[in-house]
Amino acid sequence: MISRKPVSGVVASCLSAGCFDLQAGERLLPEIRPFVVGTRFQGKINVDYAPLAGMLNFYVATRKLPGQLGTISCNCAYVGADIVICDKAFLETFSSSVNFTQDSFYGEGSREIWTNQADLFERVNQITSSILRTWIIGHEIGHAVLHAPTSSERRIAMTKAKENAADSFFLEKASVGHDEKAVRNLHWGLNQLIMQIIVITFKDGKAHVAPSSDDIHEPWILRAIALGQELTDRGPEPENDYYKSLSRDISVEPGGGSIGSLCQFQNLRERATQIQKKRLGEH
Ligand SMILES: [Zn+2]
Repeated sequence: MISRKPVSGVVASCLSAGCFDLQAGERLLPEIRPFVVGTRFQGKINVDYAPLAGMLNFYVATRKLPGQLGTISCNCAYVGADIVICDKAFLETFSSSVNFTQDSFYGEGSREIWTNQADLFERVNQITSSILRTWIIGHEIGHAVLHAPTSSERRIAMTKAKENAADSFFLEKASVGHDEKAVRNLHWGLNQLIMQIIVITFKDGKAHVAPSSDDIHEPWILRAIALGQELTDRGPEPENDYYKSLSRDISVEPGGGSIGSLCQFQNLRERATQIQKKRLGEH
């Protein structure tokens, strides 16, 4: 049965019932703010109170949500009425998916590399996590800015075109007007995800990836490549065909590899390491 209660009311009751970690929302403010600059939400972000009209309302969920919000388990979503909700476990797992860990190194001296360079890896992990986290945050804010349902629509229908527009929104806000370093970091973050997925799904000269389960989003690796390409097109070397050539080595097919449920999966770099180890052992 579809609930007829307005989504803002459902979110407000959920908030009183303790569904959301408001402090987690506050900690995200520095990463949320850049995405509302120049939009109708500039200076109007609410992470502390029940949904407020005219503001971007952003919440981090820590438990299974009731009713029509139930689909947000292990996900982030724009739910209409200027409200974005992110599952905390999803945000944390996805953003740390390609971080360096001790188990992401193998071979002689790997323990020393990990211990001796702990500070360096920590800094790199922070940059990578922030890129992946802001991708998710910026994408959902993109839906809120670009795809607010009209009064006659109860829910917005998400299409591939809208998904691509939300990803482009993220990229534009995260790159245009930013310095070279920010752009380099974006390439870095996207490439870490791309490379680890390639290692995990590589067989007979190609990466074989499964279609996304919702049939609306492209698989993560193709979304990351499309963003990298867009970033290249906007940059000083639009003729650089790095991402184009990468995409030729990826085949999307049923039965292909996937990065799994984003709330349960193992760090992709650790998975890739185990696979590499096994491959080396076979020779
Ligand atoms: Zn989306």
